[in-house]
Amino acid sequence: MVYFVDRDSMKKDIIVIGAGASGFMSAIEAGKRGRSVLLLDHGERPGQKIRVSGGGRCNFTNIHMVPEKYLSGNPHFCKSALSRFTPQDFTRMLESYGVPFYEKEKGQLFCRKSSLDVLRVLQEEAAKAGVEIRLRCRVTDATRKVLFRVMTNQGVFESESLVVATGGLSFPDLGASGIGYHIARRFGLKVTTLRPGLVPFAGNRNDLKIFATLSGISLPVKVRCRERVFQGEMLFTHQGLSGPVILQASSYWKPGEALQIDLLPDADAMELFRAREGSRIEMHNLLSEVFPKRFARVWCELSVHSKPLCQYAGRELMEMAGQLHNWQIRPQGTQGYEKAEVTVGGVDTDELSSKTMESRKVPGLYFVGEVVDVTGQLGGYNLHWAWASGYAAGQYA
Ligand SMILES: Cc1cc2nc3c(=O)[nH]c(=O)nc-3n(C[C@H](O)[C@H](O)[C@H](O)COP(=O)(O)OP(=O)(O)OC[C@H]3O[C@@H](n4cnc5c(N)ncnc54)[C@H](O)[C@@H]3O)c2cc1C
Repeated sequence: MVYFVDRDSMKKDIIVIGAGASGFMSAIEAGKRGRSVLLLDHGERPGQKIRVSGGGRCNFTNIHMVPEKYLSGNPHFCKSALSRFTPQDFTRMLESYGVPFYEKEKGQLFCRKSSLDVLRVLQEEAAKAGVEIRLRCRVTDATRKVLFRVMTNQGVFESESLVVATGGLSFPDLGASGIGYHIARRFGLKVTTLRPGLVPFAGNRNDLKIFATLSGISLPVKVRCRERVFQGEMLFTHQGLSGPVILQASSYWKPGEALQIDLLPDADAMELFRAREGSRIEMHNLLSEVFPKRFARVWCELSVHSKPLCQYAGRELMEMAGQLHNWQIRPQGTQGYEKAEVTVGGVDTDELSSKTMESRKVPGLYFVGEVVDVTGQLGGYNLHWAWASGYAAGQYA
């Protein structure tokens, strides 16, 4: 193994592990303060998740930024960092490079052309701040004597401060690894239970048959999961349930729990039936007025024998309305880290200063971004947490 401590260039003030959103931000900010920074990543290219985010257009922040959009063991933890780095701070940086962006919906800001624009800005800012980037450099461990020692496939590097910005476990194909949690545990920091978030659900064997028949259909629904209610599009797939509203609910879901789905969130099913009282219209034709035809047909096959409306007893109609407004699905599980946009859980926020992201036990050791137990809802909140927490650490590391 090559040991670099005697070579000045390999002994830096700060090593940042992970050239993703939070790693770039900490490295840039620390570099601007005149600190020498080495940014390590095992990927062939930096910022792989930034590239693919938002379908290649990167939903980089949300102008309706509020701490309530975050899930964490300590809901107050994110407040300090979010208040010191706002969506406007990020858009100002993009504007200074002439990057075009737009608001898609619900405050979500996307690049007009490509997520590569964001990556280019980060790379140029890092170059200006004198950050040295090493790619294809896999970190395998980290320890500390006087300085931090970072073990990699390219040798051992040393630094005064160490920023762990290694992200979560989702999308291993894009470079995700568990090294950040390993480093936290090695230094005696607690890591909360980890699970995939913003992830499609897998159906059980019976439900899968239904979902397969409905595959490709998207419905505007309201989903209740624990105390949370989300409204938006739900998509049936061959593997289970997906779509924005399902991804949102998945971050709050615990195995074994049921989801309550209101299939007609903006209407009253009983009123729909009453409005046509006495009519001979077939139930599946009536439901086709508010649902896609295929859905109406399959729903009738599953829950009621379709017949003319006038032949249903009032009790039957009430039951049917109840099912439409409170369809209970008990997912088999989620589709796992391979399909999850984020990891819920991470380095316990009790271990870190919310102002600096520094470990309370190990001075000089910082954790930023997704590796921390702070998970955003869908809509640009996760990247914004990466920018804000990276910015916070970059002021102190
Ligand atoms: C498909 C997809 C789409 C998404 N879209 C959005 C979106 O539009 N908006 C949004 O807000 N969020 C989105 N997210 C979530 C968002 O991308 C992440 O929350 C965010 O990138 C986390 O930033 P990070 O810096 O903490 O970690 P990452 O961006 O994951 O960076 C971690 C870096 O650490 C490196 N690394 C890991 N292990 C090692 C090791 N052993 N040695 C060296 N380097 C290592 C990785 O290669 C990686 O570059 C999306 C996620 C996915 C998977």
